Amino acid sequence: MTTRRRLIAGNWKMNGLQQSGAAELALLQQQVAAAKPAAEVVVCPPATLVASFAAAARGSGIGIGGQDCHPKASGAHTGDISAEMLADAGATYVIVGHSERRADHGETDALVRAKAEAAHRAGLTAIICVGETLEQRDAGKTIEVVSSQVAGSVPEAATAANTVIAYEPVWAIGTGRTPTNDDIAAVHAAIRARLAERLSGGADFRILYGGSVKPSNAKEILTLKDVDGALVGGASLKAADFWPIVQAAG
Ligand code: PEP
Repeated sequence: MTTRRRLIAGNWKMNGLQQSGAAELALLQQQVAAAKPAAEVVVCPPATLVASFAAAARGSGIGIGGQDCHPKASGAHTGDISAEMLADAGATYVIVGHSERRADHGETDALVRAKAEAAHRAGLTAIICVGETLEQRDAGKTIEVVSSQVAGSVPEAATAANTVIAYEPVWAIGTGRTPTNDDIAAVHAAIRARLAERLSGGADFRILYGGSVKPSNAKEILTLKDVDGALVGGASLKAADFWPIVQAAG
């Protein structure tokens, strides 16, 4: 087993304009340049900012990612963006299967898997999101649901080099609520077991936790077994909030 380098990824969702976005990225770059954090840092801005962020961040140690991609490389798909286009814009990562896309756009595990395969085809690392709803948690089905999402969404050919899993309980996203530490650790252990059953190098995959991570809870979450980093939404929009989370990763 290789050492898993921690990853802190920011998901800006549909937030950020050219000027204010560039200012936050510049602040983050200053902090990364000064402190050289042990953790890998990735920012996933809206598609409109991927190219300018990638150009600005080149050589800074901050990776840039998209928030979604189409399974195909090109074609008649109005409004969609391909993994190849993200790579061409300078992205090295792409989030696929975020619960907001699964819910708002009816994305299935099969589609998420096709998107992850597209990411790999384009040379991007896919951050594949999984997570249960509150109803599923209350019904005691968390491990079952997440295991099934991992089985359905992670391509057979996925490797630890081109794939990261993000466990994001739907009910914890943007709500300020988080599972208990024991619950997070149990789901991460189950995800790792499912990866190891199906894929070689299962122990090497990075598994991020996402859902209301903030400066005040980052340390305790990031020290849990099998938690290799965080996918951060709201608290990634301001460098002043995101940077302490990067620091908490050690
Ligand atoms: C997310 O949407 O990926 C997320 C983790 O959001 P938040 O940190 O705001 O809960």
